[in-house]
Amino acid sequence: MASLTAPVAATTLSGAPAMARPTGHAPTYYAATAAPVPPRPALEGDATAQVCVIGAGFTGISAALHLAERGLSVIVLEGKRVGWGASGRNGGQIVNGYSRDLETIRRRYGADAASALGSMALEGGDIIRERVARYGIDCDLVEGGFFAAFTPKQMRELEHHKRSWEEHGHHGLEMVDRAALPRVVDTRRYIGGMIDRRGGHIHPLNLVLGQAAALEANGGTIHEDSPVLRVEQGAKPRVVTARGAVTADFVLVCGNAYLGDAVPEITRDIMPVSSQIITTEPLPGELLDRLLPTNLCVEDCNYILDYFRRTADNRLLYGGGVVYGGQDPASITGKIRPAMLKTFPELKDVRIDFAWSGNFALTLTRVPHVGRLTPNIYFSHGDSGHGVTTTHLLGRLLAEAVAGQASRFDAFAALPCLPFPGGRTLRVPLTVLGAWYYSLRDRLGV
Ligand SMILES: Cc1cc2nc3c(=O)[nH]c(=O)nc-3n(C[C@H](O)[C@H](O)[C@H](O)COP(=O)(O)OP(=O)(O)OC[C@H]3O[C@@H](n4cnc5c(N)ncnc54)[C@H](O)[C@@H]3O)c2cc1C
Repeated sequence: MASLTAPVAATTLSGAPAMARPTGHAPTYYAATAAPVPPRPALEGDATAQVCVIGAGFTGISAALHLAERGLSVIVLEGKRVGWGASGRNGGQIVNGYSRDLETIRRRYGADAASALGSMALEGGDIIRERVARYGIDCDLVEGGFFAAFTPKQMRELEHHKRSWEEHGHHGLEMVDRAALPRVVDTRRYIGGMIDRRGGHIHPLNLVLGQAAALEANGGTIHEDSPVLRVEQGAKPRVVTARGAVTADFVLVCGNAYLGDAVPEITRDIMPVSSQIITTEPLPGELLDRLLPTNLCVEDCNYILDYFRRTADNRLLYGGGVVYGGQDPASITGKIRPAMLKTFPELKDVRIDFAWSGNFALTLTRVPHVGRLTPNIYFSHGDSGHGVTTTHLLGRLLAEAVAGQASRFDAFAALPCLPFPGGRTLRVPLTVLGAWYYSLRDRLGV
């Protein structure tokens, strides 16, 4: 199926690890086109560091790099490969803000919380751009994103978001009406939308791999193939894997939807949710120039949304749908291709080269779940589907908190995280019911 295949990791004749495309990932377009990278050895025996980070996704690597840049010693333990989780297989869309808009945050948590979160809402995207520039990370960064509306109600909501964003200093927003739509996206599905000039898109696996290399260049250590089994709490917590342990002053838990039972105290309030993506064969440049003339990434405004963009090698990468609980659907292509054809019927004869699924962590409130398990064990997860920018911000806030400047971290940690109704047994069917209700409202335009 895949027209590009990831070569098997190899060693040189001298026994040193060879540079090869990373293996052991989901069968994604990203893994097949990732920058060559040496495999990192698993943790063997005992080690010490000032900070031990669990999970090498955007959150963990972002935090670790901020810490290493501050001169702290950092060991990252990754159960699979760097970027194996959501960070290496997402839609690659730099979406500013959070999974709940600032007005909802103000209504729920008050003006101070909205003002604090609003002041940080563009920072994650800025961190990505700064790092791409500083470390020369080749991750196909393209500027600009588009929110597409199906209904007049969604257009009104976008106008409202624009005003609210502008109050927080975000002036890169532009409404687009139906007449102007073809200059952004050539489909009859939408009635308009909003351009975010400070949005954009990237090859997410190459972004996380580039930051991992920067971490190592700054003195940090990463062990792959090192799933953490448990964390022993204490004045110096001990992070235990099957073949070793790291004793640290601080532990940052960044395993998100894939954390499993390693730190059971913090997984109760998040639910894994899967989303699916397909990628076409390379398409004629003229066709993509017509479908997406300005190369913005697009996500629609529905409760369960579609998202798509052009890749650097002229494919259409199209994602959508969710499965609450985090399972894969029977056929990913069977699920996503019809959605792609609704948007772009002219792609009916186009081959699908890649199809994959990945899990993100959802919270009931749709704001991240951030806090301290003990005074020296911190966690951040639950970006609820919009995590490319938020994870980079929260990585910085974790690092600030470890360095003793916790006020911005505490602005998130103070937000209450509510358990899903129904507990572990009923939370999935109850969430499906809620999603069905909101999707029906989308369809009815109310
Ligand atoms: C299909 C899909 C599409 C998405 N598209 C977008 C998008 O376009 N834009 C956007 O903003 N957001 C998107 N998201 C969300 C975004 O990708 C995530 O919010 C973000 O990547 C989460 O990063 P993370 O580092 O917290 O978690 P992850 O990237 O999942 O990283 C967690 C890491 O921790 C490791 N780990 C877990 N447990 C252990 C353990 N016990 N021991 C050691 N290691 C462990 C895992 O192996 C994994 O590598 C998408 C998500 C998915 C799944």
